[in-house]
Amino acid sequence: MTTAFAWNPSHGSHSEVGHVERPERLEAIRQQLLSSPIWNRLQHTDPLPVDLDAACLVHRRAYLERLQQALQRAPTRLDPDTYVQPESLAVALEAVGALLAITEAVLEGRADNGFAAVRPPGHHATPERAMGFCLLSNVAIAVRWAQQTFGVERIAIVDFDVHHGNGTQEVFYEDPNVLFLSVHQFPHYPGTGRMEEIGEGRGRGATVNVPLPAYTGDDGYLEAFRRLLGPVVRRFRPEVLFVSAGYDAHWRDPLSAMQLTVTGYAKLVYELMEWADACCDNRLVMTLEGGYDTEALAASVTASITRLLDPMADLEDPIGPAPHETTDVRDLIYELRLLHKVA
Ligand SMILES: [Zn+2]
Repeated sequence: MTTAFAWNPSHGSHSEVGHVERPERLEAIRQQLLSSPIWNRLQHTDPLPVDLDAACLVHRRAYLERLQQALQRAPTRLDPDTYVQPESLAVALEAVGALLAITEAVLEGRADNGFAAVRPPGHHATPERAMGFCLLSNVAIAVRWAQQTFGVERIAIVDFDVHHGNGTQEVFYEDPNVLFLSVHQFPHYPGTGRMEEIGEGRGRGATVNVPLPAYTGDDGYLEAFRRLLGPVVRRFRPEVLFVSAGYDAHWRDPLSAMQLTVTGYAKLVYELMEWADACCDNRLVMTLEGGYDTEALAASVTASITRLLDPMADLEDPIGPAPHETTDVRDLIYELRLLHKVA
């Protein structure tokens, strides 16, 4: 496979002392990739220049004006969790630009797949507000941009961050052409993502929420991917597959209580590649969301990108197996298969 890689080099100027969403996350990823033999096999890609017009594909002007005003009085907060510094909007736009560069490389056929390692994350930002460490809805902007620039219609988004991707869901809730699938710990922040949330109007059925109990591990995630999400994606037949790749379901993550391992993440990426192969000529665009144990994050991202390059590559798990017994989710997945009419 040819795998494109991009990051947003300005990310370090978006930081707040003591906050978990910190520059060390991306630095750890870069250090691990730089010391790995896969670094030289990646197609390194610069962020595309992006201005506020791109953000307007998803966000309301009034919100972007509020965000710009907040920069004037920065450092400040837009919600209890979400800080801004004077450079934060420029950093967030560069994060979007890195994801658009990967999207372009994949849709122009220069790469089979790709990974945008960016921060701040995006999947909690709604059209009207920042929340949960997120300023701009990176993946939603990239989806709208792909539709506008490349004329693709049908797009699927898989969000495996441990938190529900409420912002992404809100953007596409009534849109039948964008399938949104989220697997997340529930109950947990931000409180949305019940299985009954399946879309509205013409978008009814194009939202799939998998609210997993605490201590779900590799087996439970694979059950959800193989028996529910895979069949739904194949039935939808997207032209490109986007992934909100959060690594905060790793067992060592400080914000959550899931039991995924580094090799578990690589298995999820393998499944995604199978669907992309079956539906959309391998076109798979991954973007970083959460993940707050920097070692587990760096190891999981490196394993994911190793898998993107070679579905058969040998993998190591430097962090090790999950320490807790995992929760059996087979009944939940069965119930969801009935709800979404998966034969
Ligand atoms: Zn998260």
